[in-house]
Amino acid sequence: MIEQLVMHQKDFAIHSRNDNPLTRLEHIEKLEQAILDHQSELCQALYEDFKKPEVEAMLSEILPLMKEVRFAKKNIKKWMKQRRVKTPALLLTSSSYTRLEPLGACLIISPWNYPIYLTLSPLVSALAAGNGVTIKPSEFAPKCSRILHSLLAKTFKPNQVSVIEGGPETTTELLKHPFDHVFFTGSTAVGKIIMRGASEYLARVTLELGGKSPTIVDNSANLQEAAKKIVWAKFFNAGQTCIAPDYLFVQADVYNHFVRLLKEEIENSFGKSKDAQKSSNSFARIINTKHTVRLKGLLENALANNSSLLCGGEVDVESRYVAPTLLDKVEPGTEIMNQEIFGPVLPILTFKDLQEVVTYVNNHPKPLMIYLYSNSSFNIKKITKETSSGSLSINDSLISLMNPHLPFGGVGASGLGSYHGEFGMEAFSHKKAIFKQGWGGKAIKLLYPPYNEGKLKLVKNLLKLP
Ligand code: NAD
Repeated sequence: MIEQLVMHQKDFAIHSRNDNPLTRLEHIEKLEQAILDHQSELCQALYEDFKKPEVEAMLSEILPLMKEVRFAKKNIKKWMKQRRVKTPALLLTSSSYTRLEPLGACLIISPWNYPIYLTLSPLVSALAAGNGVTIKPSEFAPKCSRILHSLLAKTFKPNQVSVIEGGPETTTELLKHPFDHVFFTGSTAVGKIIMRGASEYLARVTLELGGKSPTIVDNSANLQEAAKKIVWAKFFNAGQTCIAPDYLFVQADVYNHFVRLLKEEIENSFGKSKDAQKSSNSFARIINTKHTVRLKGLLENALANNSSLLCGGEVDVESRYVAPTLLDKVEPGTEIMNQEIFGPVLPILTFKDLQEVVTYVNNHPKPLMIYLYSNSSFNIKKITKETSSGSLSINDSLISLMNPHLPFGGVGASGLGSYHGEFGMEAFSHKKAIFKQGWGGKAIKLLYPPYNEGKLKLVKNLLKLP
């Protein structure tokens, strides 16, 4: 059954190659309407899966999704145009072009932490590019998975968009089929499994992975503002965000003051007492018991290794609650510094000289994001030029991802490839090179056999051409 579906989707993509842009626009609009019609059910599903507050659901799932939809609608005609590119002097009399073609049948595998946005946003790009698409949502957000299934089944024919629900075994089964592209969002560990699976049919892959995103605060930063933005970004979705600040590096001379500001911000956002924070309706829950227990273990391990609590620390496994927590004196070698935290626990380290941070970051896997809070142009330049990460965000957290003119994706362990806006269209397309020679062009023919000294001289002279 999957085999047949994949073949039908490949066929769909073949027929889309010469689509009028209005046809693609219509497909994107169909998706847009479906999202608008089901907004409240989508938010309800997010609440039932992990108590995601409605404001967060709208802000982090529906809003960026609609932005992606509208950006694609506005630009689809331009993106689909065959583009003329330069031709070097050596190839005189010819002209060159690029053209985006649908890849064929694409498989989108999504995670649970932003289950709507991270499923439908790549779908916008895949539809814009004219592909047939199979979607495998995460089994850990079952209500969202259900609603995605019914919403898309009502909106599209299966040869264009199909949803297959299930867990790892379903992904394993799907990877046995000849998809042309696999777009995976999830953990680095599973990313490796996906890449291995996709290699069977040499399917192209985009891997949107995770990792530890450092946040750096130096003594020139606007500390009040930095504290506000970091607390918001870290505890949004209870820390279960791929680009959440994972750990904090604060310059030693402003450390005490900054910690005080962070604590104040946590109280302003979620309440002063432990009970108020626990019953705050602005704070989500951990997705499942397994992850709650994992976070409890990370916290206990850090505390057993000389770290101490600056605030928070409560873990209620039954209700999957982990309090907004700040950790002091974290040793770089502890477990919490070696795996992606993906929860509302923020370890804080200090530095005297920014070079210490650069060395630390460069000695660890390349992160998806680096956040820098600074007013020092020297420090901004240093981090920009001396570290590598998927993205760098200066003086703000999370929101850079809403700029469709910027590619979003990791590097090394944090991912392969990127999307959003035109980068998404390209991720789901083959960029075909088209070279057209004019009749009678004879420059290159001068070099055809039989070879002789004169021709050798000519080739050597060509080396001097621009
Ligand atoms: P995950 O890797 O456990 O699961 C992602 C998807 O892969 C799910 O659909 C799941 O069913 C499937 N899967 C899980 N194990 C599998 C296996 N053994 N074989 C085949 N398929 C398998 O990730 P998650 O827990 O859903 O999401 C959290 C991770 O995703 C974090 O690491 C986070 O940083 C990352 N993430 C990255 C981005 C990004 O844009 N770069 C966005 C969100 C989340």
